[in-house]
Amino acid sequence: MILTLDTLPEANFREGLAEAVKHAAIVDAAYGEWILAHAGAIATRDTATMTQLVRRSVECKAAIVIEDERESGRRAILNAGHTVAHALESATDFALAHGEAVGIGLVLETRVAEAMGVCRPGSADQVARLLSGLHLPVTLPPGLDRARCLSAMQVDKKNRGGVIRAALLASFGVIARDGDEWTHPLDVEKLKSML
Ligand SMILES: [Zn+2]
Repeated sequence: MILTLDTLPEANFREGLAEAVKHAAIVDAAYGEWILAHAGAIATRDTATMTQLVRRSVECKAAIVIEDERESGRRAILNAGHTVAHALESATDFALAHGEAVGIGLVLETRVAEAMGVCRPGSADQVARLLSGLHLPVTLPPGLDRARCLSAMQVDKKNRGGVIRAALLASFGVIARDGDEWTHPLDVEKLKSML
């Protein structure tokens, strides 16, 4: 994987970075600090730095998937940011790349979580700072069709009984639990007010 990084198109490269930010945000705050400290080397695709980044992201993901066997449903946290991301991709006819959509989705879902009282204030700004450091967008694309965005969310696969559930942060690096669940019902009214 590392050997092909030099030839990876910019869009795919940035997509990988957005997923790395997501991994840091859901389980590894120290990884987030590391990404921020190495943003310059990451932008130039420095081989040693990228090797570490890919390894750490793979470790995060593996730990989550392995834990899923004990704590059923934990792998749902890998969908953090994706409820909004999928809606943004759909509402923009995929003009927005997946990685860009995931980054924006993570910021927006974290802002909603803060407004819901689920997440420590300032966490969304932490996510945004990290994404900005990697030159990834953190705000909604101009001219976004908000109605399309919302209707796309209604068919998201995490819906149960008409309720949109999403993996939300409790703080940067920590997922908020809802009893035994790894996802929370998303406050759609609060989300609408932010779109
Ligand atoms: Zn993704």
